[in-house]
Amino acid sequence: MNAMVLKKIGTELEWTELADPHPGPGEIRVKVSACGVCRTDLHVVDGELPDQKVPIIPGHEIVGRIDLVGAGVEGLSLGERVGIPWLGHTCGVCPYCRSGHENLCDHPIFTGYTRNGGFATATIADARFAFPLGETGSDVALAPLLCAGLIGWRSLVIAGEGKKLGLYGFGAAAHIMAQVAQRQGRSVFAFTRPGDVATQAFARQLGAIWAGGSDELPLEPLDATIIFATVGELVPRALKAVRKGGRVVCAGIHMSDIPSFAYQLLWEERQLVSVANLTRQDGVDFLRLAPAMSIVTKTTSYPLRQANQALADLRAGRFEGAAVLVP
Ligand SMILES: [Zn+2]
Ligand SMILES: [Zn+2]
Repeated sequence: MNAMVLKKIGTELEWTELADPHPGPGEIRVKVSACGVCRTDLHVVDGELPDQKVPIIPGHEIVGRIDLVGAGVEGLSLGERVGIPWLGHTCGVCPYCRSGHENLCDHPIFTGYTRNGGFATATIADARFAFPLGETGSDVALAPLLCAGLIGWRSLVIAGEGKKLGLYGFGAAAHIMAQVAQRQGRSVFAFTRPGDVATQAFARQLGAIWAGGSDELPLEPLDATIIFATVGELVPRALKAVRKGGRVVCAGIHMSDIPSFAYQLLWEERQLVSVANLTRQDGVDFLRLAPAMSIVTKTTSYPLRQANQALADLRAGRFEGAAVLVP
């Protein structure tokens, strides 16, 4: 197999030939057909997450077909198309796993972070954490659903049922959640980098009723906002944008420091929460819902060998929607 490997934190990924991996008990080997590029991959490359091990193959929005099945795997078959998400494994016995909060597991394994991911021609996954994808939709179009979609969905659920929803950072996750929120009868307000009129136009195209810079406020207070961008300064701004009792959800795994702010911004029962990872149930719920809602992803494809270019373009905001690597 071949993979784009992070050998040293802060350096470019290297095209590398590796021995074909073999699935252990309970595992599957998947021939990768597409893998989305997520902001978390940038955090991995930059060494911004705790205890980053190298070498590692990033990538956790994997679509592919099973080409080897390990002992004891049930419910999945050779040739079946599956999606492999960020949550790669949980312990099953910690208090979080036992109470339906496996997203908070004390001993998790994460795809493309603590186990090899999908910037590769093949990967190994714990079969219980792979989602059957069926045959509807292209591999490339489905890939961004595996993280931008799933963690976006968890964030949207945690944002509550308010009708006026703000989205800070209109990238891969927001462009999917804007569609979901509208199908649910909500109005979407999109906040981008100040002056980023191209992304604001993209948000309006996708039905946002208001789009502006993150330094602006819409005329009416919002019920909830989700911050997908990794910029801590957005937290006080988002609190300013929500009504009394409104909720601000931080959806990123990493964020720059949040500046201090007046208590008045939180007062009147405004809530500030974060979302971590996903549960398998989030995946089942969202992957059932996305086709029924006719969610369309906007993607830019890159050959696997150009993973560094895709990461650089993501960092610079050079495309709308999501980047997807194709081996
Ligand atoms: Zn656990
Ligand atoms: Zn991700």
